[in-house]
Amino acid sequence: MIFTDSHAHLTLDAFDPDREEVIARAREAGLRYLCTIGSLARDADAAAALAEKHDFIYFTAGLHPHDARLWDDGSAERLEALARHPRLLAIGEIGLDYHYDHSPRDRQREVFREQIRLARRVGLPIAIHTREAHDDTLRILEEERAAEVGGVFHCFSGNGAMARFAAGQGFRISFSGSLTFKNAAELRTVAADLPARLLLTETDAPFLSPHPHRGKRNEPVRVLAVVDQLAELHRTTPEAMGEETTRNFEAAFPRLRPR
Ligand SMILES: [Zn+2]
Ligand SMILES: [Zn+2]
Repeated sequence: MIFTDSHAHLTLDAFDPDREEVIARAREAGLRYLCTIGSLARDADAAAALAEKHDFIYFTAGLHPHDARLWDDGSAERLEALARHPRLLAIGEIGLDYHYDHSPRDRQREVFREQIRLARRVGLPIAIHTREAHDDTLRILEEERAAEVGGVFHCFSGNGAMARFAAGQGFRISFSGSLTFKNAAELRTVAADLPARLLLTETDAPFLSPHPHRGKRNEPVRVLAVVDQLAELHRTTPEAMGEETTRNFEAAFPRLRPR
């Protein structure tokens, strides 16, 4: 079977001891694509280097809402330069996180807007992180006309109304291991009701290990737990769901489409 991890943080030091083995494990199991997330404040260059090393790995770059306070005069220029890299798929992860509030909320909103504008300028989709900030996220996406570029809601945790809004704005919905958690019945209903063509799968590794590995370091091969769960919800086989979500991944990012 084939499958895709649309969002992992493979350049974080959690993978320093065995990064290549982790990648090989996933590849042996059928990993077709992996997108590693680069932070403008930290590991965007390392993410680019990893993508250059493996032909099935791509990357994103952006400033996470946690780090919004670090956005400065040179940030947009650096991000635009990274965006020219042919293996960069999207600007991200960007968005709002009112759960941790690591950066002031008004700053998060400003920097989110800046990066959406930049994505529209360079004509690339965005990868959105939103936590406990759903109303502001949707309002900003609409005001900044993010529908022009679309992209993905990563680690989706919203309700059905939010998923429908996202779909209407040209976004795909990516589910992580949190879909498998015991207390995620409502999220599973949202996933079951979405058209299969909108679904993407991710690990967010090293974070968010699926049940029953919850709390341990996550890694790309465990995206299979998400594929299995989505297959069950959509009454199909894991093989068919792995294929479908891989095609959806290709469709989500213009740089993966044959020219
Ligand atoms: Zn995130
Ligand atoms: Zn992430």
